[in-house]
Amino acid sequence: MAISQTKRKRLIKRDHGVCSYCGSGLIDSEICIDHVKPIARLGKNNDQNLTVSCRTCNSMKGKKSVIELYEEFLPRDLRATEKRLEHLKKMMQYIPNNWEWK
Ligand SMILES: [Zn+2]
Repeated sequence: MAISQTKRKRLIKRDHGVCSYCGSGLIDSEICIDHVKPIARLGKNNDQNLTVSCRTCNSMKGKKSVIELYEEFLPRDLRATEKRLEHLKKMMQYIPNNWEWK
């Protein structure tokens, strides 16, 4: 599903141009808009389900849930993981408790 330029700009401003998964600061051309809950898992195209992501995290995430993505990150680099966990905590505040990850 296409995301309008207006929506893209709004989300980049909201997320301060920082990848929500790894915390990397990004320039506009590096920014992907990711579905937190993938479309394939019945995620919606609304702001709540959309977030700024770098290309690496976006492609690693694919159809994974946020938790599944972090499980993949964990063995890689503990220091980077700590930083990612901070972002995860921040992100999780916006994810409703009643979401089911089908
Ligand atoms: Zn990233």
